[in-house]
Amino acid sequence: MCAPDCIIRPEGVTRTPNQYVEVIIDTPVQELDRPFHYSVPEELRDRVEIGSLVLVPFTNRLMLAYVVGFPVRPDVARVKDISRVLDEPPLFDFDTQRLCRWIAMHYASSLSSAFRLVMPPGRSRKVKQFVSLAKSRDDALAMLEERQTVLRDVVEVLGASAREVEMGTLKRHIRSRSVSSAVASLEEKDIVKRKFVLTEPAASPASRLAVRTIPEALKEVEQDRLPPRQRDILNHLEAHEGMEFQSDLLRVTGTSSASLKSLARKGLIEIASEELLRRPRLGYAQVPLEIPTPNEHQQAAINRIIGALEEKSHRVFLLEGVTGSGKTEVYLRAIERVLVLGRSAIVLVPEISLTPQTLERFSSRFPGKVAVLHSRLGIGERFDQWRGIRDGRYGVVVGARSALFAPVSNLGLIAIDEEHEPSYKSDTAPRYHAREVAEARARMAGAVVLLGSATPSLESVVKARAGIYEHLVLPNRIDDRPLPDVEVVDMKSVGGGGQVPLVSPLLLDALVRTVEAGDQAILFLNRRGFSNYLQCRSCGHIMGCDDCEVSLSYHRKGETLLCHHCGKTWNVPRECPDCGKGPLKRFGAGTQRVEEEIMKNLPGVPVIRMDTDTTTTKDAHWKLLGSFKAGEAQILIGTQMIAKGLHIPGVTLVGVINADTALALPDFRASERTYQLLTQVSGRAGRGLRPGRVIVQTFNPEHPAVLALAGDTETFIEAELETRRSALYPPFVDLVNVHITSPDLTAAARSAERMKKILEGNLAGAGVTILGPAPSPLSRLRGQYRWHILLKCGELDAVTGKLKGSVGRFYEYAKTFPAGKDVRVYLDINPTSVL
Ligand code: ADP
Ligand code: ZN
Repeated sequence: MCAPDCIIRPEGVTRTPNQYVEVIIDTPVQELDRPFHYSVPEELRDRVEIGSLVLVPFTNRLMLAYVVGFPVRPDVARVKDISRVLDEPPLFDFDTQRLCRWIAMHYASSLSSAFRLVMPPGRSRKVKQFVSLAKSRDDALAMLEERQTVLRDVVEVLGASAREVEMGTLKRHIRSRSVSSAVASLEEKDIVKRKFVLTEPAASPASRLAVRTIPEALKEVEQDRLPPRQRDILNHLEAHEGMEFQSDLLRVTGTSSASLKSLARKGLIEIASEELLRRPRLGYAQVPLEIPTPNEHQQAAINRIIGALEEKSHRVFLLEGVTGSGKTEVYLRAIERVLVLGRSAIVLVPEISLTPQTLERFSSRFPGKVAVLHSRLGIGERFDQWRGIRDGRYGVVVGARSALFAPVSNLGLIAIDEEHEPSYKSDTAPRYHAREVAEARARMAGAVVLLGSATPSLESVVKARAGIYEHLVLPNRIDDRPLPDVEVVDMKSVGGGGQVPLVSPLLLDALVRTVEAGDQAILFLNRRGFSNYLQCRSCGHIMGCDDCEVSLSYHRKGETLLCHHCGKTWNVPRECPDCGKGPLKRFGAGTQRVEEEIMKNLPGVPVIRMDTDTTTTKDAHWKLLGSFKAGEAQILIGTQMIAKGLHIPGVTLVGVINADTALALPDFRASERTYQLLTQVSGRAGRGLRPGRVIVQTFNPEHPAVLALAGDTETFIEAELETRRSALYPPFVDLVNVHITSPDLTAAARSAERMKKILEGNLAGAGVTILGPAPSPLSRLRGQYRWHILLKCGELDAVTGKLKGSVGRFYEYAKTFPAGKDVRVYLDINPTSVL
């Protein structure tokens, strides 16, 4: 950008452009999440823009910061100079910044964490501090008093090292809170020196030697008179529009670099280093995939979407249709129109469905126009895809959650497939939901959002009913292929009062028939369930909290039941509170036990087991699925990782080992998740020509989520909405989960109590219900004790500021006691689960 010499501001103030900048510091520290002003040295002024990454001095160190504005006057008397502008195109433009601000506001998170979302892949950097002694160890110690122990420790550690020591290493050696200030005072006394080093980014542009012909020179020579090798090279180049990378050229033509050099000497070709865009391998169809003609339901949906696109108006569509009803075809048609209109589209799919088949469908419909962004790509590939998108090479981006932030210009459409998937919610700060951010981004761009699902989230169902979303329905599978029959096995009546078997006779019999017919079967086991819930063996009732509509966790110690929402505890009852009988039993079954059971009953039948144990290596997941698909095994046993994205025509039977484990999660979304997951799993059956069969084992055959699977979805949705409405859960309120974690048991509990007090004070009169504190259902994770407080808010956006303020107040308090420095508080707005 070329800046004029000076700008006349409306208020008549004349200034030199870019003399001052407003920045946001790149730091997780909550207190620093506000704008700071700096001046810009003359020689850097034409290099700073909105979105530039700069280095700034900050409380005696250097930090990275994002430029967000150019104030006329600084807001401090003694403004400091920025130190450096990083060699990086601006990270965001005005619109992106607006989106980041929306995210920070809506999710009560810091602006710097929102900026990190839009940073190019592999380009995040850190400033490291290195410390070294400026004097000999003995001279240094002589200058210090005996009681200055931390300062002396720092000198000792530095003296023992031959090289400069990184600040983090220093802090690990000296377990004191005041290492940074000790280093600062040693620096003041000229005892130590500090150096700041900017880490290299993980990804950088790559280049390769490219060979190009020089057409004018070629016209002058008689090519027939050249040696055959050199002629081969020129022929190859001509067939490739005059350009080829050197290594490819040598390999393909089987020539040597001597021939190339000789051609270059004759001035017929030139060899130069060229930037290379690393391209991930997309799935490429061997033959172009057939383009089906939409059926009437698809066409009706397509017409509505196209109407909105042509009006250039922001609308949200909920496209509801069972698996195989042709939703993807609707996305493809909508994208086609987006491209015709000269705009671009982003398609989000759950990470697990980013299979080569999915990518193939998009890339074969829009050859050369599709970019992909997901975590299985190498960092260099991701960076290059990102750059290609920014430079406008691709009109379509397909990817997982974070592809939402792809730098496309002139956005026309965001499609979100399987919009109910919990993976659309980020589990690191800012804890955003892709559906909500997609809506925000599309609103700002005047674009259309298309949400697709067979089992829409209750959030979307409610919005569609209220007319906020436009509801589009695909009622049937393509070609009216039947949905699989669902049979429910009541496990209470299996086993005749003795030990209940893992696999019921009905399921076993079905497995035998499937195997004999030469077909394939999937056995699904939900392991997200806990084994520490109690269930009545007579009636299937799961012990739950009367107030919170969630299941209780069983604690063997003291024989108690605990509600992880409100913190209340109960003694374990002698008999079932529902039927008066019993016994109450704990549950849990692993994939391994199911595998043993199958091998015992179906000896010699090849089985593949897929769980976290068998999929530890990279790509193990795809390999196992690949060999199942190739028919190398007849039975696949697995956890939820097998539920999605699988299209295996040979599968005619799906067995659900225990539908109850998910129902028993101490989480208000347990029923909804169970219903969605089981529907998805059942959808794996009968995708080929032969009809499918689904067998669900449960102790709760009457549960609405189980009945929904067998066909009665309306009753389930009504029942679930009623529960949410009366117990005040989303989508009827906004839920905020306030997490408090600490490696210290008592500090965690004490902090949680204090956080509650702070929230009560700050939120008084704001119409917020505060529940807890209670230990989190996963009460200890990676060495951290976890507590939480649940807030139910009528109007979220009215309180996010107060929530942020409360966290700030908490950190003030945490400074008042030693263990406080390791306590962390974070907010999760509308969590997908409260575990
Ligand atoms: P969904 O996304 O709802 O699971 P798909 O769009 O993947 O459904 O469609 C399922 C299969 O049916 C795909 O192989 C697709 O190519 C095919 N298909 C989609 N629409 C039609 C149509 N109108 N006529 C024939 N085949 C179709
Ligand atoms: Zn409760």
